[in-house]
Amino acid sequence: MTRLDKLREQFEACEIDALLVTYPANVRYLSDFSTPTDGRVLITPDEALLLTDGRYTAQAAEESSLQTEIISHDWLGWLGDKLGERRLGFEAQHVTVTQLGRFRDVLQCEPVETTALVGTLRLHKTEAEIELLRKAARITDRAFSEILDAIKPGVREIDVALELERIMRSHGAEDISFDIIVASGVRSAMPHGVASTKPIGNNEFVTLDFGAVVGGYHADMTRTVAVGKVSDDLRAIYDAVLDAEQQALDAIAPGKNGQDIDLLARRVLDEAGYGEYFSHSLGHGVGLEIHEGPRLSRHVAQVLEPTMTVTIEPGVYIPDQAGVRIEDLAVITGDGFERLSHSDKQLIEL
Ligand code: ZN
Ligand code: ZN
Repeated sequence: MTRLDKLREQFEACEIDALLVTYPANVRYLSDFSTPTDGRVLITPDEALLLTDGRYTAQAAEESSLQTEIISHDWLGWLGDKLGERRLGFEAQHVTVTQLGRFRDVLQCEPVETTALVGTLRLHKTEAEIELLRKAARITDRAFSEILDAIKPGVREIDVALELERIMRSHGAEDISFDIIVASGVRSAMPHGVASTKPIGNNEFVTLDFGAVVGGYHADMTRTVAVGKVSDDLRAIYDAVLDAEQQALDAIAPGKNGQDIDLLARRVLDEAGYGEYFSHSLGHGVGLEIHEGPRLSRHVAQVLEPTMTVTIEPGVYIPDQAGVRIEDLAVITGDGFERLSHSDKQLIEL
């Protein structure tokens, strides 16, 4: 069944006659249109239209299998005329109060809130989506192996980030998954330490968290390397995080609960004495967005199913000292998982 038909199947239960999709990642998922911030998808029982404007006539025709409606002025007015008395479902999590007011102005029926209809479909990846993720992860791995020579004392974090981006784009990445994290020394204790102008020092950790985007699909990987020789105390943190990551990864399988896997990684770090320093969830799905479902969190029960993607990324962050995170990307298979990140995880000393 096509994605569109799966959504149409929900119309009756949602008490709608049409669905308007406005959230960019969902618009792209349904239409393949690569500038989804300037597009919307309208699905009715017998039509599926990509609504965009005159700047994208050629691009929409080239990229999208949906019929395109070019509306350069007042698309909401067009929508009201198009729907007549039909009931419109909208994506409640992604519509502003102002937009909802406009829907009420132009529609003849009260608009109907829907939640996560497309997001639920996006949890399970097709083979074509997984292949794009494999490619993105391969470029990410390759960039890691090629960046190592550039990581040395005196080089600024931001220069490492710039070079990582250049390498990924030179190998076919169309974009970077998110602002590249290069966090060295005390900054490695910041889980989201986006690259700064700090020069890398000697005998300290550098955490690199980055990914390539291919065909709209995001890779996500973290490695922590040592520049020079780190102290035994820092080495012990690394070993504990690696142990937690490996045990959590080995536990990934269909039918397992993401909550239990988060708790497993947390227990390993607790027993090593670092439990209080693991300050975020274990992982998340990736796809058209860098963070999407499923979540691997102690706060959310979520059963893992084949073709879902997950990251496994335990970390320990000791304020004013140092931090370590190791992150792999995997896809759940019928009997376990396929790891998409292949970079070495033994501590590299540069
Ligand atoms: Zn990451
Ligand atoms: Zn991540």
